[in-house]
Amino acid sequence: MTVSGSWERAARGAMLLGPDGDLKTTIFAEMSALAVSTGAINLGQGFPDEDGPEAVLEAARQAITDGINQYPPGRGLPVLRNAIAEHQRRFYGVELDPDREILVTVGATEALAATILALTEDGDEIVTFEPFYDSYAAMIGLSRAKHVTVALRSPDFQPDLDELRAAVNDRTRIILINNPHNPTGAVLSREALACLVELAQKHDAIIVSDEVYEHLTFGVAHVPICTLPGARERTITISSGGKTFNTTGWKIGWLSAPAELVEAVVAVKQYLTYVGGAPFQPAIAVGLGLPDSYFTTAAATLAAKRDMLCAGLVTAGFSVFPPQGGYFVVADVAPLGFADAAEFCRQLPALAGVVAIPVTAFVRETNRAEYRSLVRFAYCKQVNVLTTASARLAALSTRA
Ligand SMILES: *Cc1c(COP(=O)(O)O)cnc(C)c1O
Repeated sequence: MTVSGSWERAARGAMLLGPDGDLKTTIFAEMSALAVSTGAINLGQGFPDEDGPEAVLEAARQAITDGINQYPPGRGLPVLRNAIAEHQRRFYGVELDPDREILVTVGATEALAATILALTEDGDEIVTFEPFYDSYAAMIGLSRAKHVTVALRSPDFQPDLDELRAAVNDRTRIILINNPHNPTGAVLSREALACLVELAQKHDAIIVSDEVYEHLTFGVAHVPICTLPGARERTITISSGGKTFNTTGWKIGWLSAPAELVEAVVAVKQYLTYVGGAPFQPAIAVGLGLPDSYFTTAAATLAAKRDMLCAGLVTAGFSVFPPQGGYFVVADVAPLGFADAAEFCRQLPALAGVVAIPVTAFVRETNRAEYRSLVRFAYCKQVNVLTTASARLAALSTRA
């Protein structure tokens, strides 16, 4: 099927257009279908298989009972905007005006989409790391901005600061970072954050920081880039309740930024979805107000799962790059005798009853060579699922 118009730009950005304009299916769809048809354990897609805190779930049920079922205010229910402001003060010492500096969105995804559409014109450049979260490339394509990438390489997936300096220039409108990073699990060093702020100041660029894994770091503190000197006035910070409270299906996200930037994003957002998720908004407000112990336990529980899956992958014979945050671990299949991770992922359900995603799905075609043998596994799954997956993967070790 051939496509044209904005859809074509989005598809091209998302690397889904073949040479004759035919639309390819995503590797995510292909792998999820494979998981279903083979009954394999799906460690491809990053969603938790357990419910989040009961107080949050109950608050959503209560909100429906209480009649919070119509359009909420355009910028989000005050109870949630206040809770976001209080959360930013409590965890990061950032003071925000909930009426002017916060916007509730339909997931972090809409916050990203509205921000990119609102702030860029044809030909503006947007710098992201590579690999990148897949929706970035599609949205940048849709916006007609130019996507410029800076490589994150194993083993630690920190950016090379000279490459970063070479990528940012006076045409750069947005530096879009994701910290902690999906798919690599990297948490950006202070040095990298400081370099990003310096470059944004020098070239008058806006920093957009996707921090959906802000509470899921392992032994390293999450530092919002907006807390660095000189960053606040040019930073849009994006987060979401999905990853923090195991409510990815609720799609309650938000951003915080200086009032003028929020206003620009609202102008687009009001015509994308206008609003969303009324009864879930007060529920996420309850979540954001949970005691510190909730957040530390969530991170510790996930760290233990990370350790389990990493150990299983090492036993199976992969080279493993342990993540510092987020839902995913990247592993190299080369020691198992495979050169191509996409091919490996197609065979993995038959070989070991597990589904994973090749890292090349998050990399543009021209830059795939150095990621060719890397695979992403999700560990945001129940302990017994990870134990079974590890036992199955151990069968691979006899092949090498
Ligand atoms: C999951 C994820 C998102 C999407 O968040 P939603 O709130 O579900 O829209 C955005 N960015 C990254 C890096 C993610 O992993």
